[in-house]
Amino acid sequence: MSPRPGSYDPALSRAAEHARRWLDALDARPVPAQAAADGLLAQVGGALPEVGLPPDEVVDRLADLADPGLMAIGSGRFFGWVMGGVLPAALAADWLVSAWDQNAGMRPATPAAAALEEAAAGWLLDALGLPATAGVGFTTGATMANFTCLAAGRGRVLQAAGWDVHRDGLAGVPRVHVLVGAERHDTVDLTLRYLGLGAPTPVAADEQGRIRVDALAAALAEVPAGAPTLVCLQAGNVHSGAFDPFADAVEVAHRHGAWVHVDGAFGLWAAACPEFADRIRGLAAADSWATDAHKTLNVPYDCGIAVVADDLALRAALGVHASYLVREDAGPGNPYERVPELSRRARGIPVWAALRSLGRSGLVELVSGLAAAARSIAAGLGEVDGVEVLHEVAFTQVCFAVRGAGNTAGTDRTVEIGRALAADGGILLSGSRWHERDVLRISVSNWSTGPDEVAAAVAAVRRAVGSVGGSPGVEAAGRSGPDGDRLVGQPVVERRAL
Ligand SMILES: *Cc1c(COP(=O)(O)O)cnc(C)c1O
Repeated sequence: MSPRPGSYDPALSRAAEHARRWLDALDARPVPAQAAADGLLAQVGGALPEVGLPPDEVVDRLADLADPGLMAIGSGRFFGWVMGGVLPAALAADWLVSAWDQNAGMRPATPAAAALEEAAAGWLLDALGLPATAGVGFTTGATMANFTCLAAGRGRVLQAAGWDVHRDGLAGVPRVHVLVGAERHDTVDLTLRYLGLGAPTPVAADEQGRIRVDALAAALAEVPAGAPTLVCLQAGNVHSGAFDPFADAVEVAHRHGAWVHVDGAFGLWAAACPEFADRIRGLAAADSWATDAHKTLNVPYDCGIAVVADDLALRAALGVHASYLVREDAGPGNPYERVPELSRRARGIPVWAALRSLGRSGLVELVSGLAAAARSIAAGLGEVDGVEVLHEVAFTQVCFAVRGAGNTAGTDRTVEIGRALAADGGILLSGSRWHERDVLRISVSNWSTGPDEVAAAVAAVRRAVGSVGGSPGVEAAGRSGPDGDRLVGQPVVERRAL
């Protein structure tokens, strides 16, 4: 039985109304969630009700119940972790993806999804200067993109050592040596666990967090000649935004026959901007690259992208067939051959919509705008008494600490200032530890962060510094800043460590 025309109208109209209300309020609401999960669970849970509700009532109830527990990731004043906002075209496309409900695994069965994803992949390879014939898979995020790329790499380096891991598995396999920068993202280690490769060998990084090429060369020299080897580099260190020295690192690794993978969850997008040409030099010579669309590209959750120069290596590793069945003449293949899943949503379609709405020039503006905002924030923070920006601002990340002890005996001032910022709620940033010290970290990843939000970030930090062991004069200056009025008087959220 087909649904009657109009069956979806009440629920969809309510959803569109609630979505609009949420998006329009982002500019004014506190950035952190105002309620904790336990309290919310008491309201949304309990025993499964015996009798159902009409769809539009479900949507109304859902929106009301969720609201206090929503974090305003889409706000231009959100600087936490590395999380992107949502471009309008990408959000609307994502709604259509749900409405169309295509299972995007099979090219002949769902041709619109396949064509749009292939087009998005082509645009992406072009914009990022990666090989036009590379295989591209749309994954849930960079973690699974790292997994996907390293699965392809594991297959190829073992094949070169005479071992078909896809047929014979890992029992008795020659050791795969995996070398990673000391400051790689933790998810790289996680994906190596998925792949049965164990813990990697860390290679020393410099003060900006970049892998040291001399240390990489020394580590490779320890690997027996011809042994299967993977080297993981990084485009965009989460603390400093720094880029590994690709040209030299890739060359050294390739000289040893290693497969070179680049985790560029947010930093790969620097390759779209001529201004970062010196930072990404040599990047395109790697063998695989992982990135996220839900960070820098501002596509809704979830979407990561795996790119593998050797498309057949990718399809051999992740296709639902034995590796020996994938041949050169196999044609374009199916989307399911390039991601871990068989069935999945067409998450490449919002990427198509984002890129189509931006165009090449808009993409350059988006990425360079995020980096410019990060530089402005760093410059502003540098003028706040006691604040120390801890690195060169290479891209979209700003990591800083605040000199001096906190008000509470034994508490680092930086940690207390982080708590004060969380309580203020005007901006949201992350606390972390870097180079054995407590730090605060700002990530500029949202298309809607502009000059007002940059000023709000600096003013919020100034105010927090003033409130924790600072002079009253500093606090007063912060409150009279350009965005002071909007931030003062917002509800105070519960204090919590970030
Ligand atoms: C965010 C991030 C990841 C993990 O990405 P997910 O999309 O959360 O899976 C991996 N590497 C780096 C450098 C990141 O910033």
